[in-house]
Amino acid sequence: MAEPMHTEGVPTQPQTVVPDENLLNHGQWQRHDKFWYEDGSMVLRVQNLLYKIYIGIFTQLSPVLSEILSIPAQLAVGQLQEGTEAWPLFLAGFTIQEFDDFMAYLSPPGWKVTDASEQERMFTGLLKIADRWQISDARAYAITQLHLMPLLPSHRLELARMFTILEWVEPAVRTIFDGKLADLTSDDLDRIGYWVFVLLVKGKECMATELQRTASVAPKIDDHDWSCKKPDACAETFKRLWWEKVGRRLLHPVVPMKTFAIRWEVRTWKHADLNVACCDHMVQKMELKEIEFPDEKIIDGVVQAISNYYLAL
Ligand SMILES: [Zn+2]
Repeated sequence: MAEPMHTEGVPTQPQTVVPDENLLNHGQWQRHDKFWYEDGSMVLRVQNLLYKIYIGIFTQLSPVLSEILSIPAQLAVGQLQEGTEAWPLFLAGFTIQEFDDFMAYLSPPGWKVTDASEQERMFTGLLKIADRWQISDARAYAITQLHLMPLLPSHRLELARMFTILEWVEPAVRTIFDGKLADLTSDDLDRIGYWVFVLLVKGKECMATELQRTASVAPKIDDHDWSCKKPDACAETFKRLWWEKVGRRLLHPVVPMKTFAIRWEVRTWKHADLNVACCDHMVQKMELKEIEFPDEKIIDGVVQAISNYYLAL
């Protein structure tokens, strides 16, 4: 076996890089009026603004950022160096607003609390930058703050896709399923995207079919308790109560009953022809998931399919 090459600790010459003329400053870019620290150690450019920053504050944030900022290249001739006002390090993919918010987040005293839409913008921007540069604590902080905000489910799905926040998929899907797909606006559809919308439509249709089945076909009592003297009447009564107290409510057009609430409802049933022990057995079977309602599996399936899709992007 060949000896592995050891390059660690070997001093290397700064790489000689001739910059693209477009990256050199001929006075076309302005210094930021707030985030230009005279004693800063590196000049960055976002769009047409220059930021002079303390590099140490940035490099400690994440290894990725440290890597990005640790490669100031030099021109072969002259003193031109990357990360200076003459040749600022260009950060592509961010807006001035996003980077300003990020700088404000890093600089004492941090962010001043502003109105809700401004907060949403700031935390979304922070999430974008933290995600790109793998600053894990800032990413977690932004996600926690956005989690507490009353965002639309379509917006949550959009952020979940952009930043792989898979824990947001299930609550968003449940909220969307609780409403009508027809009520989603074109903005919602833009945010959700075609494939996820198709998954939601299929899931919702399966749910509707399965709910009708659950509503109209009562689970069968197949092992009546020893104390049940009239099993036929008991079974018949259970079936009738199921339709009256569960089935119709599951199909209610405005506030449908949830299937997890069925067992709480069944537990309250009292009827001369219904044996209490037989009824209790049915509640137990629901609690032990020996009797299951398919809507939860459908939701799980849709959430899984959306999550897999986001992970594959
Ligand atoms: Zn019975």
